[in-house]
Amino acid sequence: MIVAPQRIPVAAPSITEREAELAADAARTAWRENHYAYNARFERMLADYIGVAHAVTVPHATAALHLALAALGIGPGDEVIAPDLTWIASVAPITYVGAEPVLVDILPDTWCLDPDAVEAAVGPRTKAIMGVDLYGSICDWDRLRQIADRHGLALIEDAAEALGSVYRGRKAGALGRVSAFSFHGSKTVVTGEGGMLATDDKALFDRVLFLRDHGRKPGDRFFQNSEIGFKYRMSAVQAALGVAQMERIDTLIAYKRAIFGWYRDRLGSVNGITLNAEPRDTVNSYWMVTAVLDPSLGLDKFAVMAEFDRRNIDSRPIFSRLSTLTAFDDRPISKRFVSPTDRGASIAQYGVNLPSGYNMTEELVDLVCAALREILEKP
Ligand SMILES: *Cc1c(COP(=O)(O)O)cnc(C)c1O
Repeated sequence: MIVAPQRIPVAAPSITEREAELAADAARTAWRENHYAYNARFERMLADYIGVAHAVTVPHATAALHLALAALGIGPGDEVIAPDLTWIASVAPITYVGAEPVLVDILPDTWCLDPDAVEAAVGPRTKAIMGVDLYGSICDWDRLRQIADRHGLALIEDAAEALGSVYRGRKAGALGRVSAFSFHGSKTVVTGEGGMLATDDKALFDRVLFLRDHGRKPGDRFFQNSEIGFKYRMSAVQAALGVAQMERIDTLIAYKRAIFGWYRDRLGSVNGITLNAEPRDTVNSYWMVTAVLDPSLGLDKFAVMAEFDRRNIDSRPIFSRLSTLTAFDDRPISKRFVSPTDRGASIAQYGVNLPSGYNMTEELVDLVCAALREILEKP
């Protein structure tokens, strides 16, 4: 049996001396009149990179999505359409504002929202569509925008996993009316914990800045709160890490794509394995290389994980369909458009995230692929 000599993690950041240098500099200098300097730099770098006018640092993507929904005025009695297959953070904020998530099926290739399923779920209470660019894949944003425009809905982009992906010449995070990024330690760009909200909509952005600082105007020094809001700010030390990461963003994305290329060379033509898709006119930044196995192989995601674990290789299950989680037991309204025969059901059962961290080399990918082939050959 193939066993990795050292445990191979499923995710790992790329941290150089530059990150350490800027974080230390922030710890020394980012106080008083300089307290926001690193945050402002990080915000400008990300906004320029994705091509939107405004971006603001927040503690995590969950907060960015919460602020987006709150700033859009979505609340009790409203519904937001979201994919059934995603990380729960895409959907939990919908409940924070008192609205109801309405889950729908995904497309078989990109694993992102199925526009036809979205269309079928639009009703009188629908206020927004939450598109999630899953694992670096990208939604069919043109069709989602048509649906949103036709029904007067807000389009929110959860780009937490898709920094660097491109759809028809536009970067992920610039495709909805408002978008969210995550810089959690496992993501493409890391600040430990961290997130960003981005938008071209100045009025919406001003509302976000107001809500994220306890309902007061930016710059207020008299503690005059005109509404009860939230406290969602990122520390300067985290922002400094983000600046150092954004200085290397092109190298980071190129490396993610190289890792996927090594996997594709070895697994792309193996019968019964489907990898992340990259449809025409899109660029996938491949946050996590994901293999969906044919059900006929008889190995579900947890079985594959257990086999990898025996070989000293860390892996992750693809996200489960939210509608199948205990957390949604008491939400029949959220689940009214999904069923066990959805395409997402078999993807959710047979998908595995392979080690995709910046520590991966072609030799390590080779070892993981050999291990996977061995697992598949097991009687
Ligand atoms: C990681 C992630 C989030 C949440 O990011 P946090 O920074 O952990 O709040 C949201 N949506 C998706 C799709 C994610 O993968």
